[in-house]
Amino acid sequence: MKKTVLSCIQPTGEMHYGNYFGAVKNWVDLQEQYDCFYGVVDYHAMTMPYNTKKLRQDSWDLIFNLLAVGVKAENLFIQSLVPEHVELGWIFNNFASYGRVQKMTQFKDKSKDSSSKNKDKFISVGLFDYPVLQAADILIYRADFVPVGKDQDQHLELTREIASRFNNQVGKEYFVLPETLHTETPKILSPADPTRKMSKSAGEKHWISVFGEENRIRKQIRSAVTDTGEPKEENEMSAGLVNLFTLLKAAGNDSIHAALMQSYKNGDLRYSDLKDATADALVNLSNNFREKRAELVANKKEIKGQIKQSSKAIRARAQQTLKEVKELTGLMNV
Ligand code: ADP
Repeated sequence: MKKTVLSCIQPTGEMHYGNYFGAVKNWVDLQEQYDCFYGVVDYHAMTMPYNTKKLRQDSWDLIFNLLAVGVKAENLFIQSLVPEHVELGWIFNNFASYGRVQKMTQFKDKSKDSSSKNKDKFISVGLFDYPVLQAADILIYRADFVPVGKDQDQHLELTREIASRFNNQVGKEYFVLPETLHTETPKILSPADPTRKMSKSAGEKHWISVFGEENRIRKQIRSAVTDTGEPKEENEMSAGLVNLFTLLKAAGNDSIHAALMQSYKNGDLRYSDLKDATADALVNLSNNFREKRAELVANKKEIKGQIKQSSKAIRARAQQTLKEVKELTGLMNV
């Protein structure tokens, strides 16, 4: 029996190289070896202020992005086509500790990010509760492994706690306790501020689009911050340089990476050479991805049909788990 892998991504606009090198690249690589479920989680995208007229289009756009980078259609589903996630999420609310959920740093970051711009900004209960729904996303497929970026470690820990508490209460090792799988680059930093992670919520200059145009990518890399003035140990590479080297290596340019790293060690690295090589590598990847995406979009109708079908097939797995959970917890099954 193949082990099961689950991972999800929110349809909140474009995909950036943090998402790709931190998680989605792994999704693609794991498909041969595991039984994979990859979700576009639109219920999660409602937790921050969003545009009701755009959400459905954003979900389809993300589906095309994922297909363009190599995720297989049969492994993809859209979360709102598998509403059992939400039902299990409610059940899990009763197995999740309020005190623990309160400690989630993503909630603190996301509620702070928005409130710093506007003190009266609306913070939803959904944003607070999102890690519990995420536990349901994972456990509903009884996933063994969850390929995510490092920013998700704390949520995975919470998922394991919910699973344990559930297992204890029903007196059965029903849920597997899932493990995270990190890529070699679990944390990509913002080019404009390498003290923080690459993220869309921080603003335009803090993320590089996987489907970005050449000019924009080159401009972003050229202006990438290499020295933030943060105190560091002697001989320690600055976070900005580490990030450029990380991007270059992740993009697959091992020999250029090795040569430039040697220059760095010799003390004669020209930052412009590192930036040019990194920009070349990303532009090359992005051009290929954009081309692939355009081909897929030309068959839009057929592909949407495929995704509805795969969501339906995946839903059957989720329904089976939910049925067993309802049985175990004393709820009614029809
Ligand atoms: P969230 O907003 O909850 O992090 P996203 O949809 O933005 O969800 O993230 C999708 C995936 O990309 C997650 O696995 C997340 O860990 C990963 N990810 C996001 N930003 C980064 C980053 N800067 N570096 C590495 N991985 C990242």
